[in-house]
Amino acid sequence: MNLKLEHPVALVPTMGALHAGHQSLIKIAKELAKNVVVSIFVNPLQFENTNDFSNYPKSLDADTKLAQEVGATFVWIPTFEEIYPNEPTIISAGEIGNLFEGVHRFGHFDGVLTVVKRLFDLTNPEFAVFGEKDFQQLFLIKDMVEKLGLPIKIISAPTIRDSSGLAMSSRNIRLSASDRESAIGIYRALEAANSAPNIEAARVKLVNGIGAIPNFMPDYAELIDENTFEVAKPDTANVRAIVAGWINGVRLIDNMVMTKLGVSK
Ligand code: AMP
Repeated sequence: MNLKLEHPVALVPTMGALHAGHQSLIKIAKELAKNVVVSIFVNPLQFENTNDFSNYPKSLDADTKLAQEVGATFVWIPTFEEIYPNEPTIISAGEIGNLFEGVHRFGHFDGVLTVVKRLFDLTNPEFAVFGEKDFQQLFLIKDMVEKLGLPIKIISAPTIRDSSGLAMSSRNIRLSASDRESAIGIYRALEAANSAPNIEAARVKLVNGIGAIPNFMPDYAELIDENTFEVAKPDTANVRAIVAGWINGVRLIDNMVMTKLGVSK
C-alpha cells in the first residue's frame, strides 16, 4: 500500500517526542516541497535495549501541533503492521554500520536502514531531511540511497542546541537537573576539542573532558574522518568529534565538526 500524497513530497522521519530540533528539519523540508510528511514511528527493529525502547517518550497530540505549526502538511503515525505487513527484508548497513554506534548498539543501523527504506517506499518522497546530530545514521542513509540508486535527495540539517549548548533530544526530558548539568559537559568537551591546535591535542581534550563528566558512562569519544569514519590521523582534513554514552540510563549522542583541524565540506 502506498499513501496517496500530492507531490513533490519532503519526508521528515522521526520517532516522536518532537522538539525544536525536529521542527528545524520540518522548516527545511517546507522550503523544499509544498507537501511535508512528518512520520512518527518508534521502530522496534533499531532498539537493541528493550528498556530504551519501552521508555521512549511519547506525546502524539503535542507532536502533531508542533509539526503543523512549522509547516507539516501530513503527520503520519503508522502502525507496526503498516510498516511491516510481512517479515521485512533487512537492509545491511555494512562495515561502517558496525563501527561506533554499531559496536554498542548491535544491529541498530540495519534496523534504521530497514525502516527508512520502508518509509521511502510508502511515501515516495523527492526529498528526505535528516539531522547531523545522528551523524553516522545520516552517513549510512546517504550511502544506502546511493547504493540502491533511489531517486531521493537526502538533505542534512545542523544540530539544534539549547542555550547551554546541550543538543536537543527527545530523551533529554528523562534527565534530572543534575543529569542535565552532566549532559552539558558533552558539549563542553566537544568545544574544548575544537579549540585545540592539532588532532592529538584535540583527542586529549575530548577524552579528558568526557572522562571528567560526573555520572557519564561513555560508549565512545573519538575523532574521525567524517568522509570515511576512520579514526582521524594527523593529516586528516575533515575531522569530526563523535561522542555517545549513558547518564543514569538515558542514552545521549552528539558530534561536532572540528573547524580548526581541517576544512569540512
Ligand atoms: P529521532 O526522532 O530522534 O529519530 O530524530 C528524527 C530526526 O531528527 C533525525 O534525523 C535526527 O537526526 C533529527 N534530530 C534529532 N535531534 C536533533 C537536533 N537537536 N537537531 C537537529 N536534528 C535533530
